[in-house]
Amino acid sequence: MSVYLDHAATSPLRPEARAALLEVLEAPLGNPTGAHRASRHARKLVDEARDQMAAALGCAPGEVIFTSGGTESDNLAVAGVRDATGGALVCSAIEHHAVLDPVLAAGGRTVSVDPLGRVDLEDLVDVLSPGDGPPVRFVSVMAANNEIGTIQDLDAVAAVISEHAPEAVLHTDAVQSFCWLDLATHAAAADLISVSAHKFGGPQGVGALVARNGVPLTPQLRGGGQERDRRSGTHNVAGIVAMAAAASATVAERDATIESVRALRDRLADGLRARVEGLVETAVPIDSHGRPDRSGTLAGCCHVCIEGIESEALLFLLDTEGVAASAASSCASGALDPSHVLAAIGIPRDLARGSLRLTLGHATTTAEVDQAIDAVARSVERLRGRR
Ligand code: PLP
Repeated sequence: MSVYLDHAATSPLRPEARAALLEVLEAPLGNPTGAHRASRHARKLVDEARDQMAAALGCAPGEVIFTSGGTESDNLAVAGVRDATGGALVCSAIEHHAVLDPVLAAGGRTVSVDPLGRVDLEDLVDVLSPGDGPPVRFVSVMAANNEIGTIQDLDAVAAVISEHAPEAVLHTDAVQSFCWLDLATHAAAADLISVSAHKFGGPQGVGALVARNGVPLTPQLRGGGQERDRRSGTHNVAGIVAMAAAASATVAERDATIESVRALRDRLADGLRARVEGLVETAVPIDSHGRPDRSGTLAGCCHVCIEGIESEALLFLLDTEGVAASAASSCASGALDPSHVLAAIGIPRDLARGSLRLTLGHATTTAEVDQAIDAVARSVERLRGRR
């Protein structure tokens, strides 16, 4: 049996999304900006999807901007506010590169995090304090981290911003959070919210940016003036409709999914702790009863570092055993780069080399989890030369 535990990278299409996608693709479809019947139909589909996304995200329909995915949403937020305000940019040190890179390229600064990956609010105060340069107008703190799953307290971050940089807007990259957090409440304090369909059972290549009314945002794609002039380009109608179907299904089942997946994640993490020597569960403290406290991380995320193991070799062996997992480090060059997230939370470089991220989805089963525990334990033994 093959075991898929890489849902944070991409999650398989949900049946509701597949049905919606096929229905749109198979029907004659006009361009939503046109005037004839086929165009009006396409526009209606996009408008309905916008209503669904707004309901799922706790915003007004007009605040939803459809994009090509999480990367574009993040880039639009960063560059859009930078161009509209000319202000300084700030983000947490553990942002995804889709936020971190444009912020740093624009001369922005990062805010440090504690050993569990939570934003250091005192450092945030320092970074927001006016110096010689322009005032800070943009702060980005992800709702939850894509490698280690740490959930941020966005209300606390927003409170610091409103006291120390009241002109700044708060952006949150919620790409990893949609399945596991009710963003209508968790991200209520954010002015801008990025999501990506393929992380919650929608198709790849489509996403959204919520931009609350009044947030200064200069478009980065100009042309036909779609999305109320905030993002030009013909809509990916089928993708948008399928994303909305996946979003609605995810929200409807969210509470039950979180409960069942959390139990499976705990089984997985407890099993790995019991079977693999020298394994450290990342960003998980031990409570006063001596038990791991995973309440600060996403329900579907299990991240560990294994002493004396190279992620690449472990992932190769897991793949041969039919287990799809990730090291959650950048590997565009073929070689795994050390993770900026693990460095920021103080994991020593040697230990970080043995990082392993196993991420679960709504359809993950107990049998998959048990097979993964066996496969990791066996592969680590092999790499340590004991088998
Ligand atoms: N932000 C986070 C936190 C992510 O995990 C990812 C993808 O892994 C992205 C942004 C980029 O999203 P997309 O793949 O839709 O471009």
